[in-house]
Amino acid sequence: MGKFLSSKFNSLTPYDTSEEIESMNGYVRLNTNESPFEPSVKVIKAVRESARGLNYYCDPECSLLAEKLAELLNVKKSEIVFGNGSDEILNFIFMAFCENGAAFPNITYSFYKILADFHGVDYVEIPLRDFRIIPEDYKNLNGRTIFIANPNAPTGIALKLPEIEEIIKSNPESLVIIDEAYVDFGGDSAKNFIHEYDNVIITRTFSKSRSMAGARLGFSISCEEISNDIRTIKNTITPYNINSMTQAAGLAVLEDEETTKKNVSMIKHVRESVKNRLVEMGFEVLDSSTNFLFAKHKTISGEKIFETLKRCKIMVRHFSNPEISEYNRITIGSAEQMQIMLEVLKRIVRQ
Ligand code: PMP
Repeated sequence: MGKFLSSKFNSLTPYDTSEEIESMNGYVRLNTNESPFEPSVKVIKAVRESARGLNYYCDPECSLLAEKLAELLNVKKSEIVFGNGSDEILNFIFMAFCENGAAFPNITYSFYKILADFHGVDYVEIPLRDFRIIPEDYKNLNGRTIFIANPNAPTGIALKLPEIEEIIKSNPESLVIIDEAYVDFGGDSAKNFIHEYDNVIITRTFSKSRSMAGARLGFSISCEEISNDIRTIKNTITPYNINSMTQAAGLAVLEDEETTKKNVSMIKHVRESVKNRLVEMGFEVLDSSTNFLFAKHKTISGEKIFETLKRCKIMVRHFSNPEISEYNRITIGSAEQMQIMLEVLKRIVRQ
């Protein structure tokens, strides 16, 4: 801690990226739920062309992108706000709306807790039951802002729309954030609720199904009033948050929905076949509506599996939290990557 750092930052725990950095050194990367498919030629061409205009500031409203996305989602342009990844949108939300505190499941996306701590937001963690979010447990939260990842991470389990609606309806004094980072792989989107309820924000990302994790693009969908508040925060601190190349890539990827659909269906197909192979090897695997599997072996510890895979240059995600330390979260990569991983697991299980 340097002597010039504000004292309020003395005890921050930032998001730990050390393993992500390590996995960039020749590992099979199955630890951050990225897409194994590189962006299409059309996306690469669009980025190359947009690079010519880098002498100008980018469009702070992402107008072309917003227009195309609004058309695809059947919402108004003004109901969308873009972020530098959905992480930035989550940050805006913590800044804007969490005066009465926050609530989220005890096992979920770790960034909610990190942001709550950063912004000094008081939070409650609501235990999952049998790895599931139970809507009944999200009542009487006294105006706390509620964060629900649907499908949830790292479990991969999705709630059905009536369950999401129950949480929204039973908390009219709370804003309910539905984080749909993985929704394209099997969940049902709650986006239409933004026209029925005034207390909902949906967050989404281009990082997973649209192969753009490195470009950093996410967005929120909410009624105009809430969107305007998020936009005010954005325009106050980072008006040019989405660079021109990312805007061009985003537009090109939206103009090629066929490729996204093909990639998603390939991942779902590989996911189911890997799941079956894992079960045959003695793993218990939770139902996944995402591009990853959450699995534990009946007799071999989660840590041993993680360490052995790592020694073989395969990085999956292991959590030290005792409630889930027997599990590993395995991103669905290409069929070839999965084959490499399954071969190593076969050896571990045979020993
Ligand atoms: N929400 C969830 C549940 C996630 O797992 C992630 C990815 N780590 C994000 C949001 C953030 O994604 P991005 O910032 O890349 O859009």
